[in-house]
Amino acid sequence: MTQKKPSPLSALPSVDRLLKTADVAHLLAEYGRISVIHAIRIALAKARTEGTAGKPIPDTKVILSTVTEHLAQLALPSLRPVHNLTGTVLHTNLGRAALPEEAIKAVAEAARGASNLEYSIDEGNRSDRDEHVEALLSEITGAEAATIVNNNAAAVMLLLNTFALGKEVPTSRGELIEIGGSFRIPDIMTQSGCTLVEVGTTNRTHLEDYAKAIGSNTGMVMKVHTSNYVVEGFTAEVPEPDLAELCRKNSVPFAIDLGSGTLIDLEQFGLPREPTPMEAVKYGADLVTFSGDKLLGGPQSGIIVGSKKHIALIKKNPMKRALRCDKMTIAALSAVLRLYRDPDSLVDRLPTLRALTRSADEIKDVTARVMPAMADALEGFANVIQTACESQIGSGALPTRKIASTGLAIKPKNNSGTALNSLAAAFRALPVPVIGRLQGDAFVLDMRCLEDHPSFIKQLSALKLQQ
Ligand SMILES: *Cc1c(COP(=O)(O)O)cnc(C)c1O
Repeated sequence: MTQKKPSPLSALPSVDRLLKTADVAHLLAEYGRISVIHAIRIALAKARTEGTAGKPIPDTKVILSTVTEHLAQLALPSLRPVHNLTGTVLHTNLGRAALPEEAIKAVAEAARGASNLEYSIDEGNRSDRDEHVEALLSEITGAEAATIVNNNAAAVMLLLNTFALGKEVPTSRGELIEIGGSFRIPDIMTQSGCTLVEVGTTNRTHLEDYAKAIGSNTGMVMKVHTSNYVVEGFTAEVPEPDLAELCRKNSVPFAIDLGSGTLIDLEQFGLPREPTPMEAVKYGADLVTFSGDKLLGGPQSGIIVGSKKHIALIKKNPMKRALRCDKMTIAALSAVLRLYRDPDSLVDRLPTLRALTRSADEIKDVTARVMPAMADALEGFANVIQTACESQIGSGALPTRKIASTGLAIKPKNNSGTALNSLAAAFRALPVPVIGRLQGDAFVLDMRCLEDHPSFIKQLSALKLQQ
């Protein structure tokens, strides 16, 4: 009987033998036995499939490098830092506001151990977690009281659910907005158990329209800041003080959803004007809602300020318990709000404001510093030119108003149609992914938000380009 020729696959080492090699010892120490065995099995399976298909059988060294690569991949956290060079400063998909150091430190401290989250150190008994921010919010906005929830969408839902469950909410037809896909005023009303009563027309709404819409089943009147679009031309909206007075006469709460709600006058920095919660409170709104992570520059949260009576009712709603903020959010928000006590140093300390007010010269300077390294990294592959570009605030704040900026326009030499996309993919594949935007035939990197350009430059050598 002739002996069967041994299969080339028998040359593959066993899991046990690989585990005993010297190179695996440090992998075991770093990633743990279960992960390493898992990665070895995957690498061996791959080698077996390839071997069966007639490809050469990899030696132990090659198998171990596959194992190492796989383990390194698995060890990367899913949520990672990226460079936001899209030109949109408050980019919802990229996490909106970057927190100031003061807030980062406060979050770390709150996360590390026990804290007086809902505990009065003076009295030695239970307290309300809102207390860590309520007095600050009142001080800054001029409102009697305040409360916070997970985001502004939650704040709006909570208002509707508290004051208008099973009731009607008159709102102007010109303000039935959609913000980024899932937040639409008519849908939020339905889901909160309210009936939307459309008032006026798309371009013009008058006080009489509201007066006619208010009846015995009105739960609340709501005004929504149309943050992400502008109605121009033959338009009319009711001034807030008039609407506040009408609501007071009819004994129905008047709420304003401001969306972004900046706590300072942005015009002093040459930025587009945004309405402030302070104005809304002064105009007589009973309740004002705004986001913590838009222009305010803090953590994701929804802030509600207003009269003592109305805030007390909100706090009694069981929905508030379901929407409450965690200790890390409270720590961060409290730290950010404390920075607002010194408005003069805010521009230096709050990253959102720092990015929005960064001088044209400074952005040009950063661009010029990055330019040579970028040209080197893309040598023979793409042309790199300094270009004027336009940033925007983002998160719905006046997208029609652009802020002049500078960046790099990268144009692949091979204009095959897919070259631009593979260039963008190569930048996303860097250790700290770089996110830019495609504009015409160029991949544009807006340098407004680049703070640490030396580390940005350093990682450019890792760029893997495909011709
Ligand atoms: C952004 C925005 C919201 C939603 O706020 P989130 O904090 O993203 O939940 C609601 N209303 C208006 C007017 C907005 O601009």
